[in-house]
Amino acid sequence: MQLLIVSNRLPISVTKAGGKLSFKPSPGGLATAMSSLGKGWNYSWIGWPGIASDELTAQDKLQITQELQAHNCYPVFLTAKQIANFYEGYSNTTIWPLFHYFQSLTKYRSGFWEEYQKVAKLFRKEVLKHATEKSLIWVHDYQLMTLPRLLRDALPHNLIGFFLHIPFPSYEIYRLLPERKAVLEGLLGADLVGFHTYDYADHFMSSTLRILGRDNKLSGVILKDRIVRADVFPIGIDYRKFANAHKSPAVKKEAAALRNHFGSRRIILSVDRLDYSKGILERLEAFELFLENNPGYHKKIVLVVIAVPSRAEVDAYRQLRENTEQAVSRINGKFGSVDWTPISYQYKNLPFEQLVALYGEADVALITPLRDGMNLVAKEYIATKGRRSGVLIVSEMAGVADELPEATRVNPSDKVGIAGALETALQLPSVEQKRRLHVMQTRLSKYNVVRWAEDFIEQLSDTQTKKTARDIDTLTPQIQEQLIADFRKAKRRLLLFDYDGTLTNFVSNPRPASAKPSPALLGMLTKLSGAPGTKLAIVSGRPKTALEGWFGKLPFSLVAEHGGWTKVDGAWTPAGTAAQDWKAGLRLVLEQATERTPGALIEEKDYSLVWHYRNVTPHLAYVRKASLLHDTQKQLKNSEIETFEGSKTLEFKPRAINKKTAAAKLIGKTKYDFILSIGDDNTDEDMFAALPESAYTIRVGRGASQARYHLASVEQVLMLVSELSAVLP
Ligand code: UDP
Repeated sequence: MQLLIVSNRLPISVTKAGGKLSFKPSPGGLATAMSSLGKGWNYSWIGWPGIASDELTAQDKLQITQELQAHNCYPVFLTAKQIANFYEGYSNTTIWPLFHYFQSLTKYRSGFWEEYQKVAKLFRKEVLKHATEKSLIWVHDYQLMTLPRLLRDALPHNLIGFFLHIPFPSYEIYRLLPERKAVLEGLLGADLVGFHTYDYADHFMSSTLRILGRDNKLSGVILKDRIVRADVFPIGIDYRKFANAHKSPAVKKEAAALRNHFGSRRIILSVDRLDYSKGILERLEAFELFLENNPGYHKKIVLVVIAVPSRAEVDAYRQLRENTEQAVSRINGKFGSVDWTPISYQYKNLPFEQLVALYGEADVALITPLRDGMNLVAKEYIATKGRRSGVLIVSEMAGVADELPEATRVNPSDKVGIAGALETALQLPSVEQKRRLHVMQTRLSKYNVVRWAEDFIEQLSDTQTKKTARDIDTLTPQIQEQLIADFRKAKRRLLLFDYDGTLTNFVSNPRPASAKPSPALLGMLTKLSGAPGTKLAIVSGRPKTALEGWFGKLPFSLVAEHGGWTKVDGAWTPAGTAAQDWKAGLRLVLEQATERTPGALIEEKDYSLVWHYRNVTPHLAYVRKASLLHDTQKQLKNSEIETFEGSKTLEFKPRAINKKTAAAKLIGKTKYDFILSIGDDNTDEDMFAALPESAYTIRVGRGASQARYHLASVEQVLMLVSELSAVLP
């Protein structure tokens, strides 16, 4: 199988010095995972090679393309302006701070968003060059959130996955984004959207509901024609690389140098990119408090701070560096002496050997981001420790905290709490330290980065299997041709049409005036029903007064209230005498809910009560519907009344009244040689169930159905009806 990985950066970076190009691998976890994928997979990687194209000649670009191709990598070239607006701009000064809850640092500049979209199109162009019919496409991260939609439009049948490596914020934060709709629509182009934690997935679904009005069910967002799954895949690390690091002579050498330098002092380690989301300043202040509270530890400990340079071209990061370095100097000045510097600070990216030597030697890892999608440093520290002791203090605001309940968890803004946790950590017995580490190590070694990638790809491939099993066939032009031919030559025809959502689109007001059939539709139905040997019926949930008002003078049959009333040969007959005693109690519950739910309304029919919520804010509707279902369930227990969910309605009606019985009655004893039945919701499933297998049954919209075919929209149904009536003389 072919896998196309699409990410902002390629796993190889290109630089140019003195007119000469150099290629340096920058292997992240993802690259490791890809290189470990099992046989049967071949992957290509599409991304930016890390250098502005303004610096490159045509010859350079050719060379880059050729060199990268040897590693299955394909470059998307970006200009300095594009990098400034798309990457440093929209990605890193709009999305990044907002998604990490730094509202005050979030900048909305014109030009950022435009460039973000343009760059997504450049990525699409490159993907389309490589995608085949069978390619699985896996798009990564916040720089490319609109790409899945662009790809979906161009490749409707490919499986497309998206993984977000940063938090997805709660709706209250997300809604601040001016482009919130387009970004969500972009993500919904995928079949599977992956997140690190359950909360992020939940926030995403809550935003799709509240902003786009898209319902969700069982971790899936329901679209008109398909379901987008949102699921949790906490990224792992290359576990063995860290667990085995202590065996390497280079690491041993670094560890000895560290010990030599710090002597018997206990090491507290802090490692992060220098980013405001990492809570470095708060951590330094908590350490200051610890030193104030614990003079006994002076000269016995050292806080090693590794601040990895990051996004130095963005203002907020320059400012952060200044503030961090000032805080380090201040604290060192306040507590330090000639023979002791409490904080050892380095602003640099450490080579692997030095980093793991530090992990190995550190007594405590103090990882307290204010927000972090995952935080791999925490996992790497645990893995590197092996059988040695060590304590991980981790922020409860990092995704990783969900996976490591055995670690000491702290609120990153709570300096007193962090100082207290440090004190406890330094006194924790070694046996207990090892016990905790061991539990965490076992977990992390299993769900490593390779397993993470495999899991995502398996789940993505699985959506294909589920899709095929779940989906019904589209009524293709060929099948439609056959249907029309069968209709034309039939001697006895039965046509059963649902009304709302099938012959007409839903309207916001359920009252009859607003859903009136057009003269064109009436004309077609009249013509069809007038053909010799043809019986036509509108099988609807509407009350009989509405149907009578619209179709009363026309020569076809009508079924109202899902079978409560039937009109054949001009006379209405009820399904039975309806008991009404259940209505009073239920009406009261519905009225109470309606009073507290702006936009909701109750409709009473002879046989049923309907609660309409089409005009209610989606989230409120969701909450109210759930509580209504709960409340009414108790009331209707052991009764003959059933509840069913229609399109933005909850309807309560006697179980015995349904479209199945109604359809069976309409068929009677006649042997039809052509039956066509079209409907759009669960009540129509009853109708389909009453029909022989040879019937043409069609469901409007996707979703599980007993129907043989589906059509995407009311417009398509009307086209079919029009073609049928056109073949009649
Ligand atoms: N890291 C590094 N050099 C250093 C310090 C850290 O390469 O000097 C690596 C570290 O091993 C980890 C990554 O940087 O894999 C940081 O990932 P994390 O998820 O903790 O934070 P992010 O930078 O992605 O926000």
